[in-house]
Amino acid sequence: MGRGKLYDSILETIGDTPCIRINTLSPDHVTLYVKAEAFNPAASVKDRLAVSIIEEAERSGELKPGQTVVEATSGNTGIGLAMVCAAKGYPLVITMAESFSIERRRLMRFLGAKVVLTPKGEKAVGMYRKAVELAEANGWFLARQFETEANARIHENTTAREILADFDGGRLDYWVSGYGTGGTVSGVSRVLKKERPETRIILSEPDNAQLIGSGEAQKRDGDGSPASGHPAWQPHPIQGWTPDFVPLVLQEAIDGNYYDELIPVSGAAGIKWSRELAQKEGIFTGVSGGATFAVAMQIAERAEAGSVILCMLPDTGERYLSSPLFEGIAEDMSDEEVALSKSTPGYQMG
Ligand code: PMP
Repeated sequence: MGRGKLYDSILETIGDTPCIRINTLSPDHVTLYVKAEAFNPAASVKDRLAVSIIEEAERSGELKPGQTVVEATSGNTGIGLAMVCAAKGYPLVITMAESFSIERRRLMRFLGAKVVLTPKGEKAVGMYRKAVELAEANGWFLARQFETEANARIHENTTAREILADFDGGRLDYWVSGYGTGGTVSGVSRVLKKERPETRIILSEPDNAQLIGSGEAQKRDGDGSPASGHPAWQPHPIQGWTPDFVPLVLQEAIDGNYYDELIPVSGAAGIKWSRELAQKEGIFTGVSGGATFAVAMQIAERAEAGSVILCMLPDTGERYLSSPLFEGIAEDMSDEEVALSKSTPGYQMG
């Protein structure tokens, strides 16, 4: 059938990601779906934000033709921005803490961006301040994913609308998400609160970095950026989730009581469920997707019969080849694979 249209640019393929039923892992008394953001062209939810920031800044005149774009990012925003900037012809500089996975840096560079690493001891606040410094020194456009209105707005206008359309006329009892900037939860919740008030919004964060759960307020500068790191933060393995401060974009969801329940989850559970999704469902997602799914499974266990649950999966597992997600996934043949090799006469390794 084809897609019924020809595309003028890669940017037109962003969004409209599928909600996919879980068939093996889900308890029988509920129906569990995942919204697979890996279907975006640069394979994460952040493609939405990237095109939104750039196109809103083009419209407002804040971003001039050929001007350099700069941003602090743990990876997916940088990869999304690199894709968008390549398609539109803007130079891009990314600042990123050295602790994030190697393939993220290389992907950004492959897409034509420059990546400036910052010391991991200075955490997310350090990479953010470096981006501000570079923007001020060079007159570059700072994307400001943690503060910009363009972040939650794109989820309000696309992610949320897709969910409404896909579940139109059917039940949707729970929607489950984590947060990085908070764009997904703030934007989608704005719409669900109004249009699907019966849907319970479940938010998650790492069990060893419970910034929201601690109840401790974030100190901010005048522009909404963090004045200091949050005291409840500790390093955690769920890349893309919970930076060491509460972003302004997320603050809206906290102040507006957008979520019905906050459930902490461990990095180990994220890794476990990412692997389960891959091996039992054929659905490939990263650690944050696994962590969100771990929470969705908890909800599923205790939900009433007939409940329908939707779980966000923010990116692809392919982004984690050098990370703990792939630890123990061997390069060499196992004993079982060697035995298979020897079980027929030809083409054996020496
Ligand atoms: N998971 C991953 C892997 C991400 O890169 C992000 C975005 N930083 C998120 C989850 C959270 O999305 P949001 O920024 O919209 O809260």
